[in-house]
Amino acid sequence: MAELQLQHVYKKYGKDSLAVDNFNLHIQDKEFIVFVGPSGCGKSTTLRMIAGLESITEGELLINGDRANDLPSKDRDIAMVFQNYALYPHLTVYDNMAFGLQLRKVPKQEIDERVREAARILDLEPYLKRKPKALSGGQRQRVALGRAIVRNAQIFLMDEPLSNLDAKLRVQMRAEISKLHQRLQTTIIYVTHDQTEAMTMASRIVVMKDGKIQQIGSPMQVYNAP
Ligand code: ADP
Ligand code: ADP
Repeated sequence: MAELQLQHVYKKYGKDSLAVDNFNLHIQDKEFIVFVGPSGCGKSTTLRMIAGLESITEGELLINGDRANDLPSKDRDIAMVFQNYALYPHLTVYDNMAFGLQLRKVPKQEIDERVREAARILDLEPYLKRKPKALSGGQRQRVALGRAIVRNAQIFLMDEPLSNLDAKLRVQMRAEISKLHQRLQTTIIYVTHDQTEAMTMASRIVVMKDGKIQQIGSPMQVYNAP
């Protein structure tokens, strides 16, 4: 279960630049929310505040009804996938996925089960012993997804996860992420500047401009698309 509320959230960097300006949003459990809008409109900042990687200047963040403004990032039930979520080059695919769990002292057998399950879901089973440099771009991006999946988090934050991939792979990974959402039944908040990604993946689209929500609705409502 993962429900988020942002209430009158503001983010100020330095003295007077308002990156996020009175942001109000209630994200329901299992929604696939996509943030779109021009570069600099505050999408990443909002995501980073939800993740606890950036402080909230003013306003409230509630996760499952509880105030989370001051909850350390590591204690939030959140997994993240970024555009440049670098894999460790010297570690195998298996160890890249296992690493975060090892740090958290998850028992070895459970790590093994979770990594193998993620590899199965993502078609990475044949590659577990390879190093990242011996993988294609799409496979690497799947490993980055795998690292998020093994966390068993209820909330996924994805910041332009596909923008480094070529057009064909983007289409394929789009479908895979949608499938993953169906399968894991998690809440996803996804940032992109790609309108097609938003249209094909979102249950709701949030259009941002100058730190504010300009429009919010289904793909149909926002883009006249099904
Ligand atoms: P988007 O993700 O939509 O491109 P960002 O959230 O990255 O937008 O940025 C929103 C605004 O905040 C921009 O004006 C940007 O320059 C500014 N900003 C982002 N990060 C920082 C930072 N660490 N320090 C100062 N200003 C920042
Ligand atoms: P988390 O979601 O907590 O970051 P990870 O498995 O991704 O879990 O990473 C575990 C730890 O390793 C975290 O402290 C994270 O900051 C760090 N880490 C993750 N990826 C990298 C990386 N590519 N380079 C350096 N440190 C990393």
